[in-house]
Amino acid sequence: MNSSFDAVVIGSGLGGLCCGALLANAGMKVLVLEQHTKIGGYAHNFKRRQFTFESGIHSVPMAPDGVMMHILKLLNIDSKISVIEQPSMYSVNTPDGHFSIPSRADEIDEFFKKNSATSSDLKALKSDLDKFYNKICVPIFTSGNKYIPEDSNFISQFHNRSYLQHISSLCKTPAVSNLIFGQWPYSGISEDEAGALFSFTMFMIHYKEGSHFCKGGFSSLAKALADKIIEKGGNVLTRKIVNQCIVENNRITRIATTDGSVYETRIAVSNISPYKLHSTLLMPQFQGKLLNRRLKNLTSSVSCVIVYLGMNPAFKSYFSDNISFWYNTSDFSTIYRNIITNKPKDQIDHLVTLCGVDEGNHPTLTLMNFTQKNYSSSWNSEKMIIAEKMLHKLEKLHPEINKYIELMEVGSPETFERYTGNTDGALYGFENIKTMYGEAKLPITTHIPNLFQTGHWGKPGGGVWNVMVNALNTSKLIFNSIH
Ligand SMILES: Cc1cc2nc3c(=O)[nH]c(=O)nc-3n(C[C@H](O)[C@H](O)[C@H](O)COP(=O)(O)OP(=O)(O)OC[C@H]3O[C@@H](n4cnc5c(N)ncnc54)[C@H](O)[C@@H]3O)c2cc1C
Repeated sequence: MNSSFDAVVIGSGLGGLCCGALLANAGMKVLVLEQHTKIGGYAHNFKRRQFTFESGIHSVPMAPDGVMMHILKLLNIDSKISVIEQPSMYSVNTPDGHFSIPSRADEIDEFFKKNSATSSDLKALKSDLDKFYNKICVPIFTSGNKYIPEDSNFISQFHNRSYLQHISSLCKTPAVSNLIFGQWPYSGISEDEAGALFSFTMFMIHYKEGSHFCKGGFSSLAKALADKIIEKGGNVLTRKIVNQCIVENNRITRIATTDGSVYETRIAVSNISPYKLHSTLLMPQFQGKLLNRRLKNLTSSVSCVIVYLGMNPAFKSYFSDNISFWYNTSDFSTIYRNIITNKPKDQIDHLVTLCGVDEGNHPTLTLMNFTQKNYSSSWNSEKMIIAEKMLHKLEKLHPEINKYIELMEVGSPETFERYTGNTDGALYGFENIKTMYGEAKLPITTHIPNLFQTGHWGKPGGGVWNVMVNALNTSKLIFNSIH
């Protein structure tokens, strides 16, 4: 036996680290076990020559008085994190035109007005944004250590309600709705299929709490959380692949890793894909039959082919969009359907471009094209074919771009799955479809009383803000269970 802990967290994504830090801060001895050589999951960065690439995350609502900072203040690590405000929430480029949604609420209102929003559109939109803020964010500030269950009356209004239906009911000017729907890459699903609750919450948090980049990259957020765990007497170990949760008397008592280590624990927290947790880490006799059946009916979110480009310093004066989405049509539903039906990518129909913000003389540009893992069975060659097409499209949009490219690295859904264990290389956990709301989402608690789940496969879903909120709720439920 290697050692004994109050809580062992499997996986060091931001959800696992944040939950671990909250538990450690409350006096628990916490161990985080991470399979990769680096902590952070999707928040890890990697170096190639002089370039440091964010593996994924580029924009998170992190206003000083917002929810993310509130959680960091609870941990007393807010001063360790500096944020840089993104100049815009996102830009969209379609055959109908190019626009950039500003990152501040008052500027967004002005922008909508300029784009023919009527006063009744704006009034309805703002009133609903306030309603969501009061229901979702305010309780986080006011609840202290108390776990506040979801308001089922509020949630039930969104049963089977698409984002399209929701926004159309508020905003009668289609041009304005389309500006909002252009944000769909943030949730990975188009407005007709996306759940209103998830997608509107996503828009609301960016509207209310802005769009930010973490100075030093999002790995500095992961580091600050890990440092808190260590400062409080816990530990965060990398290269530790958890391969078994040992159950005795219907409780997890020990966690084993592939190198033969075994850690005794009172509480286990999983930050990994529930498909892996509930099929391979638990022995068959301890697997939740109902849960496994439920998992079969759920779908992973989209993944992507990703192209990381290291650029020369002159690139910064050439390229102005920080987060931008190019689509070959304003019909986002068709693009999404092409992705989920694995339509051959003869032509690239969408391209996400993300600029690093804090990279001095070694700027980076990241390109994404959404896909499903089962699009190809030989990603090594397929990813290069798609990457070529993405670069070709980029060149069409920015004819001089090749002058600035110094280095290229390509990743596929398999790359994401390998580095983070996320099933199918899912970017956001489960697909946030309209039938997946409220109780349909995976709960934090499990059929094993001392096994909890945190991260983007749970509620509210994918994205850093959601994952940190989920981690806060997980820590509260754990405190409830032991006190
Ligand atoms: C390309 C890309 C861009 C994105 N952009 C944004 C963005 O701009 N803004 C935003 O808010 N969100 C963004 N997201 C989504 C966001 O990054 C994720 O939703 C969030 O970071 C997931 O955090 P998590 O805590 O669920 O864990 P993950 O990041 O999924 O981490 C899980 C961890 O568990 C570890 N693990 C898995 N199996 C084991 C095992 N058996 N033993 C030990 N460890 C294990 C993994 O190695 C990993 O470190 C993006 C995602 C991607 C991929």
